[in-house]
Amino acid sequence: MRDVGINELPSSYLSLIAPPESAQKKTPQKSPALAGRSDSEKLRTSHFSSLEKIKAQYLDCKMCPLAKSRLRLVFGEGSARARLMFIGEGPGFTEDHLGRPFVGRSGNLLTDIITRGMKMKREDVYIANIVKCHPMKDPSDPEKHSNDRPPSPEEVSKCMPILLKQIDAIRPEVICTLGSPAAKIMLNRKDGISNLRGKIFDIRPLPDDPDYRVKLVPTFHPAYLLRNPPAKKPAWEDIKVIMGLLKK
Ligand code: SF4
Repeated sequence: MRDVGINELPSSYLSLIAPPESAQKKTPQKSPALAGRSDSEKLRTSHFSSLEKIKAQYLDCKMCPLAKSRLRLVFGEGSARARLMFIGEGPGFTEDHLGRPFVGRSGNLLTDIITRGMKMKREDVYIANIVKCHPMKDPSDPEKHSNDRPPSPEEVSKCMPILLKQIDAIRPEVICTLGSPAAKIMLNRKDGISNLRGKIFDIRPLPDDPDYRVKLVPTFHPAYLLRNPPAKKPAWEDIKVIMGLLKK
């Protein structure tokens, strides 16, 4: 797994965190093709076109065995200039069928968290997964329910470059990982989510750009919250930490 720079900061040290270098990160590239448009429109177009290029590049990806059983590649969706990016582990049954991340019951809960809890629009954030194709216990039958499994380390390492390109194109200020596997993979840690959540991690996820730093806040997966409603309380604490970071 790649090396990530991590400074673990307790949530209670929130006020000590330096403001994000958003101005520097969001500096638009001058392009004759975009001349005549407002700066924010140029920037929006530039980020969008980077993401679209990455999507086109991997639309028919066959870099790992998950390509054989997937119905649809689930690239990710949301704002190309999102300040907040949610990252889950991988698509499940409904996502595989619809080609969209976090749909179905757990997706609805995530949408509620974003819209009702954070007072944001789902299309203002970016939602993606570590692997883009549905890992199945029985890859011979994509129509089977309860057929999800975690992606293998090989599948993760094949797919991770796509996620890193998405992060590079979007340059979010905050990443929220959903569930234990996504947190462990992004942080290169072995601890479970119970140990990782309640903290803010300062990471440098892009090996080619060590100057880019992003705050990472791990929280529970919405599917876990549906199975364990009492976990919604600590999850809400995590969301409040994220909202605090976005206010800075
Ligand atoms: S999971 Fe990722 S690496 Fe594997 S086929 Fe799908 S897009 Fe390609």
